[in-house]
Amino acid sequence: MSCRRIVLLGPPGAGKGTQAAAIVRDLGIPHISTGDMLRAAVKAGTEIGLKAKAVMDAGELVSDEIVIRIAEERLSQEDAKNGFLLDGFPRTLSQAEALEGILDRLGTKLDCCLALTVDTEAIVKRLLKRAEIEGRADDNEDTIRERMRVYERETAPLLDFYRERNLLIEVSGMGTVEEVGERIREALR
Ligand code: AMP
Repeated sequence: MSCRRIVLLGPPGAGKGTQAAAIVRDLGIPHISTGDMLRAAVKAGTEIGLKAKAVMDAGELVSDEIVIRIAEERLSQEDAKNGFLLDGFPRTLSQAEALEGILDRLGTKLDCCLALTVDTEAIVKRLLKRAEIEGRADDNEDTIRERMRVYERETAPLLDFYRERNLLIEVSGMGTVEEVGERIREALR
């Protein structure tokens, strides 16, 4: 079975963004990143952007209500009919349940949840180094540790959620971008 309706999961710094770009290019499906949509809203100064900015800068989660609304709007668009890669959504159990409802209403369902597994300590080190070089507001040590805690507490339970539904495919995210990309292509085939 080939997966075209995909949820991509993984802790911050697992290389989700990079791998997402390669997957959507290979499969010709839209890349739906709630993080990108929220950053665009912040930049445009919309009402959602104004609400989300401080929360995002602190490494915490924007409310389920807001992200569920923007995910539903995006998934309802024509180009998501034949597949999509969700990156950064869902991030909580309520979002995962809401996603089932959204896809139900659209008359479709997920094909798989691709989870990148990594060594979190190695990742924290890598993120800290990147933060030092780039000086990102959401990338200082406290924020990085907070994002990791939020991931463990809110998002890691989704692994069981998708495992129970027989949708979970775990792929090691350790190694070079090419190595991980090859593993993903194999897994999605
Ligand atoms: P990302 O680019 O996916 O790491 O998202 C950047 C930030 O946007 C996160 O740290 C959250 O503050 C917010 N965000 C993105 N997606 C979600 C989501 N599904 N639920 C809650 N907050 C989100």
